[in-house]
Amino acid sequence: MMHIHRYYDVDIVNGPGTRCTLFVAGCEHQCRGCYNQSTWRLDSGVPFTLAMEEQLIADLKDRRIPRQGLSLSGGDPLHPHNVPHIRRLVKRVRRECPDKDIWLWTGYQLAELSAAQREVIAEIDVLIDGRFIEAEKDARLLWRGSRNQKIWYLRQPQGEHTDQHSAASDAQQGYPQRASRECPVQHQ
Ligand code: SF4
Repeated sequence: MMHIHRYYDVDIVNGPGTRCTLFVAGCEHQCRGCYNQSTWRLDSGVPFTLAMEEQLIADLKDRRIPRQGLSLSGGDPLHPHNVPHIRRLVKRVRRECPDKDIWLWTGYQLAELSAAQREVIAEIDVLIDGRFIEAEKDARLLWRGSRNQKIWYLRQPQGEHTDQHSAASDAQQGYPQRASRECPVQHQ
């Protein structure tokens, strides 16, 4: 069973557009400067139940408040314990909500992901990777807290895998400017 800390059915802060956002429990990175250590433990928060999952899917399909997509954050959605649960969830979202995009924040780096973690990445649109490094903190960054973190647009039309973007290039791609974050996994 995966635990979660928060779920926002309507969120305009964690990713582009109006979104559903899920903050999961469990993180093993122990970044210096982490200001939400309460998310580290896998058994913190509350169990993510099937009823919660059904609600999330219903929210993504809700036409009264159109959602652009789903944001997965934490904690770390790619913590090994969370991977099978997140993989199942993203596959379901792909299947049942094919017009929605999926963004995922992790403290791991793309290059170091395990085969199981990569199965999750294969289903998502955008990955923001890397631990939060206090010495590289930069408030001007879009979607990230520190300069070492990168935004990977994994499903660009040309099939390009794009490296780190400046706020300017993000704006050129039509992604609105947002406040930056302390952590790749978007604490509240
Ligand atoms: S990845 Fe985020 S939650 Fe995990 S230790 Fe680092 S700052 Fe904290």
